[in-house]
Amino acid sequence: MIKKALWGLSTPQIHYEMLPVHLPETEKLPIPQRLTLLHPKRDALSVPSTLGIGDTVKTGEKLSLYPDQNDYVVSPVTGTIASLSPYTGDFGKSYIAVTITPGANEIIDDTFNQQTHSPTLELISDYLSGAPGNPPLNLLADSNGGIKTIVIRGLDPDPTVATSQYLAQSRFYDLAKGIQIIKQVTDVRDIILITAGESMQGYGHIGAQVKNVKTAYPSALPHMLMKDVLGQVVPAGKTCEDLGVCFFTAEAVISIGSAFESGQIPTSKTLTFIKKDGTRKIIETCIGTPIGDVLEAFGETVNEFDRIILGGPMTGSAIYALEHPVQPDTDSIIVVDRDKAAYVSDYPCINCGECVRVCPAKMQVNMLVRYLEASQYEAAADSYDLYSCIECGLCAYVCVSKIPIFQYIKLAKYELERAKTLEAADA
Ligand code: SF4
Ligand code: SF4
Repeated sequence: MIKKALWGLSTPQIHYEMLPVHLPETEKLPIPQRLTLLHPKRDALSVPSTLGIGDTVKTGEKLSLYPDQNDYVVSPVTGTIASLSPYTGDFGKSYIAVTITPGANEIIDDTFNQQTHSPTLELISDYLSGAPGNPPLNLLADSNGGIKTIVIRGLDPDPTVATSQYLAQSRFYDLAKGIQIIKQVTDVRDIILITAGESMQGYGHIGAQVKNVKTAYPSALPHMLMKDVLGQVVPAGKTCEDLGVCFFTAEAVISIGSAFESGQIPTSKTLTFIKKDGTRKIIETCIGTPIGDVLEAFGETVNEFDRIILGGPMTGSAIYALEHPVQPDTDSIIVVDRDKAAYVSDYPCINCGECVRVCPAKMQVNMLVRYLEASQYEAAADSYDLYSCIECGLCAYVCVSKIPIFQYIKLAKYELERAKTLEAADA
C-alpha cells in the first residue's frame, strides 16, 4: 500500500501489504506456443555453439552454448529449438535468446535425478543456478566458506509484490527441505528466515531462525535487513557478501527443496501480476513465457504510453517488448495505465531537500543529483557517497521536480563498474 504524502507535510508512508490468512489460489497458465530462455553471452564469440536450430530438447534438460557448460539454461518443455539470436537486456547486458517450440509428447531429462542421492554444492550449482528464484549459488561456491549467514527473504523487497510472502507461507515443506539441503552441502549454520506481520506463526520446525521485520518500506531491502536484523552496517563500496551474508529468496530455497524431493529441476515461475485496475493475482507460468502471453491470458491490453514494470513499483524497470520472457527472477509484472504512470521531467532541482529527508542512507541526494545529471560519476562516488545508496528509490518517488534520481544512480554504478572491467581487461 502506498500513500503519497503531500509535499512538505510529512514523509511518504509506504507499507508492505500482508496477504490474508487464507491465501489466494495460484492461477496457472498453460504452456505457451513458444518460449524464450535468455542464455548469458560471453565476449569470446569464437567459442562454437553446442546448440543448433532444429535440435530437440527434453523437459529439464540443461542447455549450454559453450562446451564447458558453466553458463546454461534449463528447458521447461520438450520441443525443438526454433531460433538462437542476440538479445540485449537491462544496461546493455548481452544474451543469446534460445527460442523453443514445445512438442506434443513430453520427455523428462533424467540426468539430475540420477544424482540426487548425494547432494553437493557442485551438483546444485551445476543444475539449479537458473531455477525459479535464481539461487545465488555462485556466491556460496566462490566465497570458499566466507559466507557464514544465509538470509531467506519471506517478504518481498518491493511493496505490493507478494511472491516471496506467498511462497514462504504456502510451500512450508519444500522450504524446510531446501534449508536442510543447504545445511547438508555447506558449512553455513546461521540461516534466518525473514517474515513480517503475523506470518511467523507456524514456522516452528523450518530449520531456520525466524525473524519478523517492520512492514514499513524499505525494511526488507538487504542493507536494511543487515542493519535491523543482523546489527551490521554495510560500509560504502562493500557488499553484504563481503560481510559473510548472502540473501536467498524463499522461492530459491523452495526450488532446491523441490528439486531434491521430486528429482526434477523446477522450471515453473511463481509471480505477482498486478493489472492496470490494481487487481493483484499470484500466478504460475513456465520460465520463458513471453510477458505478452501473460497479459493476454488475463485479458489485459496495453495502449501507447502504458507501462509494463518488472520487479516492483519502487525498484523495478520498465520493459519495452511484449516478447520479453519471464525469467527465473521475475517476481512481478505490473501494468500501469499511462494516466497513472510516474512521469519524469527535465525540470531542474529546486533544492527542496525532500530527497535528503527521506533517504535512509542519509545521503546528500540533492548534491549527488547534480553530478549524476552531468555524468560525473567518479566525482559522485568520491564526493557524494554514491556507493552508500541502498537503492530504495525513495528519492525519485518524492522528488517534486520528477528527476529520475534512482535511474541515474543505477546508471552511474553500472558505468563505473563497466569502466573498472575495461581497465582490468586492458591491464
Ligand atoms: S535510492 Fe535515493 S533515497 Fe534510496 S538510498 Fe539511494 S539515494 Fe537514498
Ligand atoms: S532532487 Fe528533487 S527532491 Fe531532491 S532537492 Fe532537488 S527537487 Fe528536491
